[in-house]
Amino acid sequence: MIANLSLIAAVLALAGTSSAATTTTTAATTTATPAPLLTLKPFNGTFAGDYPTTFEVAPTNTTLAKQWIAQYNTANITSLPVVPFTSGGDPKDPNSISADACDWTITNCINKDITVCPIGVWGLTYDDGPTEFSTQLYDYLDTTEQKATLFYIGSNVITNWEAARRACGAGHQIASHTWSHQPSTSLTNEQFIAEIKYTEMAIKEVCGFTPKYFRPPYGDIDNRIRSLLWAMGYTSVIWDYDTNDWQMAPGGTRTLAQVNADFATWEAAASNDTTGHITLEHELYQNTVTAAIDNLPKLAATWKLMPVSACMNDSHPYQETEYQLATMNGVVTGMSSATTSTNTTTSSNTTSTAAAGASGASSTGGKTSGAVAVTGEMKVFALVAAAAAAAAQMF
Ligand SMILES: [Zn+2]
Repeated sequence: MIANLSLIAAVLALAGTSSAATTTTTAATTTATPAPLLTLKPFNGTFAGDYPTTFEVAPTNTTLAKQWIAQYNTANITSLPVVPFTSGGDPKDPNSISADACDWTITNCINKDITVCPIGVWGLTYDDGPTEFSTQLYDYLDTTEQKATLFYIGSNVITNWEAARRACGAGHQIASHTWSHQPSTSLTNEQFIAEIKYTEMAIKEVCGFTPKYFRPPYGDIDNRIRSLLWAMGYTSVIWDYDTNDWQMAPGGTRTLAQVNADFATWEAAASNDTTGHITLEHELYQNTVTAAIDNLPKLAATWKLMPVSACMNDSHPYQETEYQLATMNGVVTGMSSATTSTNTTTSSNTTSTAAAGASGASSTGGKTSGAVAVTGEMKVFALVAAAAAAAAQMF
C-alpha cells in the first residue's frame, strides 16, 4: 500500500507539470456538462497567493507559514516523535512506533477517523487529483449524476485548477490530501501545518471554500497528526476497502482484471455486510480512472453511492457555511434520477453511528444554518432542499 513512494511522487509531479494543455483540450471537447450545483465566486486562473514549489514539502519559514504555525502548533498538540521513512515510503523502524501513537498504517488503530459508511452505503472517494485524467471521470459522474469525495493534492489544484473548479461547482465534496503527498507522520508539526494550510489556500482561491475533511496520504496518521488536524478543524477519513488501483500502470503491474475481481468479491459479500464501506480509489492515472468507471455501474446496483460527508449526514463539509451539499437522504444514488433518489431513502440509513469514526464525524455535522448556494435549476434545488430537510431531522 505504501511502497513505491518515490515513483508515485515522480508520477504525480509529472502529471502536475504537464497536464494544463491537455486539460484545456479535453474540456473543449466536453459536451452536456450539467449546470453547476454550487455557485462559485469568479476565478480566472490568476492565483493571488504566493505558493510553494509543487510537490516539495511546504516551507515553514514564510510569513504565512509562521502565522499558521503560531496559531496551531500549541501546547495542546499531542507530542510524538516524527517517524523517519524509507525512500520506498515505509517507516524505517515500525517497531519504534509506540502503541499510544495509534498509528493506522502499522496497527490499523483508529481514533475518531471515519473508516466506513452506514450499512448499505458506499462512500465513493478518489484521491490525488485533480489530474489530466480527472475530466474523464467527472464527465462520467455527470452522466449518472453521481457525487464523490475528491481528496485533492494542493500542488495539483494549482496546476489543474480548471478541473478542480468544475468539480467544486458540480457539487462533489472537495477534501484535502496535503500539499505534496508526503507520509504525514514523517513531517514535523510545522511542516504538516504548512502542508494543510497551503492546500486550503489553493482550494479557497479556486472554489471559494475551505475543506473540513482530510485523507492522509498512504493512510499514514497517528495521534500527533490527528491533534493537528483537529486544531485546524478537520476530520480524517481512512477506508475499509483498498482497490490498490495505484499499482496499475504506470504505478505498477496490477491489471484491470485484478481490480475488478476485488470489486466482484466485495459485491458478492455484500449480503453479509455489517457496515457500509469507504473505498480507496484514485484519479491518478488513465488506468485508475478506467477502473473507476468500469466498476461504478456494478457498485450502484449493490450500494447507495455518495460522498463521505453525505453518508455522515454532514450537509456542511466546508468551513464556510454558505456552501451546502446534499446528505444521505438527498444525494443522488447510482443510476437513479434525482427525483426518484430523493424518495427512496431507507430507514437503515439513520444508523450513521455504524461508522467507526462516528464520534469524530459528528463534530463536523449537524449544522443546518446557512444559505444553499445553488443555481436555479429546479431538479438540483429540489435535491438540496430535500437534503436540508433530512439534515434538520437528523440533528
Ligand atoms: Zn494519495
